[in-house]
Amino acid sequence: MKRLVPLLLSGVILALAPVSSAVPGVEHIVVIGSDGMGSLAFKETNAPVMHRLMKEGAYTLRARGVMPTSSSPNWASMIMGAGPEQHGVTSNDWLTNKFEIPALEVGPEGMFPTIFRVVREQKPDAHIACLHDWDGFGRLLERGMVNHVEHVKDAIETAGKAAKYLKEHKPQFLFIHFDGVDHAGHAFGWKSPTYFKSVELVDSLIGDVVQAIDEAGMGGKTLVLISADHGGVGTKHGGDTIAELEIPWIVYGPGVAKGTVIHQPVNTYDTAATLAWVLGLKAPAAWIGRPVTEAFAP
Ligand SMILES: [Zn+2]
Repeated sequence: MKRLVPLLLSGVILALAPVSSAVPGVEHIVVIGSDGMGSLAFKETNAPVMHRLMKEGAYTLRARGVMPTSSSPNWASMIMGAGPEQHGVTSNDWLTNKFEIPALEVGPEGMFPTIFRVVREQKPDAHIACLHDWDGFGRLLERGMVNHVEHVKDAIETAGKAAKYLKEHKPQFLFIHFDGVDHAGHAFGWKSPTYFKSVELVDSLIGDVVQAIDEAGMGGKTLVLISADHGGVGTKHGGDTIAELEIPWIVYGPGVAKGTVIHQPVNTYDTAATLAWVLGLKAPAAWIGRPVTEAFAP
């Protein structure tokens, strides 16, 4: 309904009005993706920051990734608003010139459209950045569409860089990728004490990022979205168990329906669709994701 209101206004008023978000008050978006942090990662005790954001925001721990439950297909689906059947990123071997299934639609840089491109094309002046702890993430987006994309090794380094970046640039759109939880899963096992400990570290780093948002003067104007690519079982993922497929989906910030446990079905490709909708941007026709409207105040 909110999105229809501007359409009812006259063209003159539209021309004079500043560009406004579909969700009022959102001037910045910070997405935090934690590799391997499936819903099974969450205990009351090891994620106090995320539990606070869940209570003060909206969340579901029953969101789903896509098959196969490996990193590239899932990160791609999250930022490309569609599944592997559409974008063609079916494995970690994928490259723009090396794939089993061609993308349904190909745009700049040989890429299926990502949220980075959608923001760039419809908000040309927006400052857009991506800081990623896993090297492979950087090939999943149109690098020409962002002001800055950087592979920062190590989660602590990545969080530090993100905090600095937030204060220096106050980006409209920042994606932060952490990799440490996945490493702990592979080395010690999902649900091992070390795995839960690694979630605790990421949780504290998320706290640092939220603090940096405040220190950057972006508090109360920034939507924070936290999710993951997949969980795991034993020391692996890529299979077809719910422990590998189920991921958290948490939103916090202006316009969010505080204290909501989301019952609407959430798929990882709904993330890009939600972010576009929040910013009042038109989603590409090739996307299949739908905005998670239940997470936002009516
Ligand atoms: Zn992994």
